[in-house]
Amino acid sequence: MSTDSKTKKPLNSGKSYYVKSFGCQMNVYDGERMGEMLSDQGMQASETREDADLVVLNTCHIREKAAEKVYSDIGRLRRKDGSTPMIAVAGCVAQAEGQEISRRAPSVDIVVGPQAYHRLPELINTAKTGHKAIDTDMPPNSKFDVLPSRPKQPRPSAFLTVQEGCDKFCTYCVVPYTRGAEISRPWGEIVDEAKALVDGGVKEITLLGQNVNAWESEDDKGHRQGLDGLIRALDRIDGLERIRYTTSHPNDMTQGLIDAHSNVASLMPYLHLPVQSGSNRILKAMNRSHTVESYLEILERVRTARPDIALSGDFIVGFPGESDEDFEATLEVVRAANYSQAFSFKYSPRPGTPAADMDTQIAPEIMDERLQRLQALLNEQQFDFNRKLDGKNTRILLERQGKKDGQLVGKTPWLTSVHVIAPDAKIGDMLDVHIDSAGPNSLQGSLIRRKAA
Ligand code: SF4
Repeated sequence: MSTDSKTKKPLNSGKSYYVKSFGCQMNVYDGERMGEMLSDQGMQASETREDADLVVLNTCHIREKAAEKVYSDIGRLRRKDGSTPMIAVAGCVAQAEGQEISRRAPSVDIVVGPQAYHRLPELINTAKTGHKAIDTDMPPNSKFDVLPSRPKQPRPSAFLTVQEGCDKFCTYCVVPYTRGAEISRPWGEIVDEAKALVDGGVKEITLLGQNVNAWESEDDKGHRQGLDGLIRALDRIDGLERIRYTTSHPNDMTQGLIDAHSNVASLMPYLHLPVQSGSNRILKAMNRSHTVESYLEILERVRTARPDIALSGDFIVGFPGESDEDFEATLEVVRAANYSQAFSFKYSPRPGTPAADMDTQIAPEIMDERLQRLQALLNEQQFDFNRKLDGKNTRILLERQGKKDGQLVGKTPWLTSVHVIAPDAKIGDMLDVHIDSAGPNSLQGSLIRRKAA
């Protein structure tokens, strides 16, 4: 029995839920699917966690000191009168910590891993009886067989997970342990979900996977297809204007996928391709299984296929053993790649990963200094990329209201934000705009003419 079941509010259908997702886009997708499933069960989404009968913390293990942060998030759910909502911990920390969570945080009722959240309704029923409900199984694919079909979406842009898990075992990463082995969702299931999203008002779909370009499956005629084949099939869906995909691994970047960037109209000219380090010695220690040369050669082929492509990457500075020369080599790769934007982080050890036990950890002040230098270079490149769009005409998909009267914010094909005054337009419209000025993080545009939604 729960130690504090007396202070729990009862939970029934008709009650409310609040899902808080941390971390990557795949967690955002999972959080949305959990919400859709709870709504399907007759529960209502709550605007705030304070008013919710059930709070789901959909956790991320990439966060530094991830487990500790989850325990403090759980502590903050206690209300002034001493009661707590029903609490479910989901996501990668749930998978990694399992039973330990309800041992250390007795107010937690449910612990559910990323492959088992479709069982949330049963787990809620168990928790309602006062028992702890823990499910960190990894049944392949089964959650997608059970989740309800996608309802009308509140946004014109949606995520769609097509692949989960990872077999790469980079030495700093917990994903292969928390998300399991690489699994590709079946072709028909993905096409059906994409059609449902488009029927519900979505114009842009971002295909997600820990190694999204490792996706492969048979199509409806029994032919083996890679991600490029799937993208070509989705391109044929009426009303789907834009397709994106993330995150890719250099080793799974096939020529077919590169070619799709030159001849699939709805595939946007944007590629997020992490390299992590510019030193082959460090890449080997990271078990990245590609080299700097093979990475740059892929970028060259991508740029040949689609000369205006915007490139993005991920970087880790201060990986154990990283010397000044290794770091300088990273700056060299950044100069050679010329990114439109990128994500960079200081290395921080993840318990249970091989790199966490390496005895060549880098001092924090060295990491700080390297990160600052790297980010200064990346910011410069991002600003340069934005400046090149200044004076050009482009098409944007309106995604949200701006701060000024009549202002809306949309995205270019290259994923840059554009602010535009367009009082007669609405979220979800595609607009042709002229770029009037460029800032470090976004662009200002003016309306050329209104396109029908
Ligand atoms: S490729 Fe490497 S960094 Fe990416 S999810 Fe797999 S193990 Fe983690």
